[in-house]
Amino acid sequence: MTAALFPLFADLRDRPVLVLGGGMVARRKVEALLHAQARVRICARALVPELADWCEAGRLDHVARDFRPELLDEAWLLVAATDDVELNRTAAAAAAQRHIFANVVDDAGLSSVQVPATVERGPVQVAISSGGGAPMVARHLRRRIERLLDGSWGALAELLTAQRARIRARFPQMDARRRFFERLLAGPLPRLLRRGLHEEAAARFEQALAQSPTRAGGHVTLVGAGPGDAGLLTLHALRALDEADVILHDRLVSAEVLRMARRDAERIEVGKTGHGPSMRQDDIHALMLEHARAGRHVVRLKGGDPFVFGRGGEELQFLRGHGIAYEVVPGITAAVACAAYAGIPLTHRGHAQSLQLVTAHGPLDEDALDWPALAGRRQTLAFYMGVAALPAVRERLLAAGMAADMPFALIENGSRAEQRVLRGTLAGLPDLAAAHDVRSPALLIIGTVAALADSLHWCGSTPLHASRLPANDAIAQAA
Ligand code: SAH
Repeated sequence: MTAALFPLFADLRDRPVLVLGGGMVARRKVEALLHAQARVRICARALVPELADWCEAGRLDHVARDFRPELLDEAWLLVAATDDVELNRTAAAAAAQRHIFANVVDDAGLSSVQVPATVERGPVQVAISSGGGAPMVARHLRRRIERLLDGSWGALAELLTAQRARIRARFPQMDARRRFFERLLAGPLPRLLRRGLHEEAAARFEQALAQSPTRAGGHVTLVGAGPGDAGLLTLHALRALDEADVILHDRLVSAEVLRMARRDAERIEVGKTGHGPSMRQDDIHALMLEHARAGRHVVRLKGGDPFVFGRGGEELQFLRGHGIAYEVVPGITAAVACAAYAGIPLTHRGHAQSLQLVTAHGPLDEDALDWPALAGRRQTLAFYMGVAALPAVRERLLAAGMAADMPFALIENGSRAEQRVLRGTLAGLPDLAAAHDVRSPALLIIGTVAALADSLHWCGSTPLHASRLPANDAIAQAA
C-alpha cells in the first residue's frame, strides 16, 4: 500500500518561494502564492505579460534567467512549472538536497509536496487531494463541494474568530462550549448569514451567548423532498438534511433521498401517503413540538413540495401558534417532475395556456371540485390522486363535457427508476390503468399536451398504450 500524504496548511507569509518557469502554469501558481502573501522569486527565461506586470509593480522578483541551486538558499518551497522535464528534475533534486519541499506541476513523482484543489470561504479552506495521481478527480470533487458550501461559511468563521475570546470566557468548560457551538450552528444563524442578514445574525449570536447552553430553542425546517430522484433536491434541502437532528418524513419520501441525510439524524416515518394507515396530523404536530422544544433541529420532510397538497400550511399554523421558529424549503412537486420525466410540456403553444393542480384523493375532494371548469379547453390538468379515484375522474369529466378522446398520461413512480408512463384517451383511462396494475404514487395529466409524451419521451421505456397492451394477448388467449 502506498503511504498516505500528510496534509498541511503552510503559512508562507513573507517567506521566500522560488518559482521556476514564467508561462501560464507558473502564472497560476504565482497568483496562489501571492494570495498567501509569500515572497515570490521567479526564475525564467521569459515571462508572460501578467507576470512581467507583477514584477514591474514590485509584487515579485525576477531573480534569474537560468536555474542554479543557490537560488534555493533562502527558499522555503520550490514550485517548478516549466515544461522542461530535465530542468524540473534537476531543480527538484537540488531542493531535496537542501531539505526544501518541491512541487513539480503535474509530476507527482518528482514532487515532495502537492498542491491540493481548494474551496475557500473566508478563513475556511477545504483542500482535496487525490494523491497526485488523479487531479481530475480532485477538481471534480472540488466543484461539488463548491456548490455545497455557500459564502455563509466564511462569514460564520469570521464571526466566530472575532468572538472567540468572549465565547471562551462565557463557556470556560469545553463541554459547554461544544454544546453552544452545536446549538448555534443548528439554529437560524447560518441561515441568516446565508441570506446576508449580518445584523440579525449578530443579534442571534448575542442571544445565544446570553442563553444557557442547555436551554436553547430548536426549530423546524419544512423541506420538500421532490418526487424521488435525489438529484432533484435543492441545495437548501441538502443542507437542511445535513444539519438535522430529527427527520420526520412522509412515506412518499424515497430511500434515495433519506440516504442524503446526516447519518446520525434520527429518522421517523410519519406515514401520510394520502391513503392507507398514516399517523394522524395531530400526532405529527405533537412530535414536531416535542423535538423542537427539546432544542433539536427538526426537518419535516415531505414528498414533492410541502405547499402542494402537503398540508404544509397547517403545520406552519401549528408551529406559529406554539412559538416555534420555522423555515420552508420548496421542493419539485410531482406534476412538474412527472411532466418533465415523461416529456410532457405542461403548457405548450396551441395546446394549453394554463395549468391546474387538482387533488382527488377522496370522495370529498371529488365533490368539492368544479368539474365544468376542469372540462374546459386549452388547459392542462394534473391530478394528484390515489389510483382508486380514476373511474370517478373519468365519469365526472365526461359528464362535464370533456371529449372522450382527450389524451391522458398516467405516470407511476415519476422520476424514479421504476417509472412507467401510460398513454391513452379519457374513455379508456381506468381500464388501461387496471390492465397494467398501476399503483400509487401515480400522477394523472389530462390535456392535449399529454399526447406529446409519445414523441418527446426520453426517460425509461416508451409510453404504454392500449394497442400495445401485453395483457390484451393474455386476455385473448384466456378467452
Ligand atoms: N406534496 C406532494 C404531493 C402529495 S399528495 C407534491 O408536491 O408532489 C400525493 C400524491 O402526489 C400521490 O398520490 C401522487 O398522485 C403524487 N405523487 C407524488 N410523488 C409522485 C411520483 N414520484 N410519481 C407520481 N406521482 C407522485
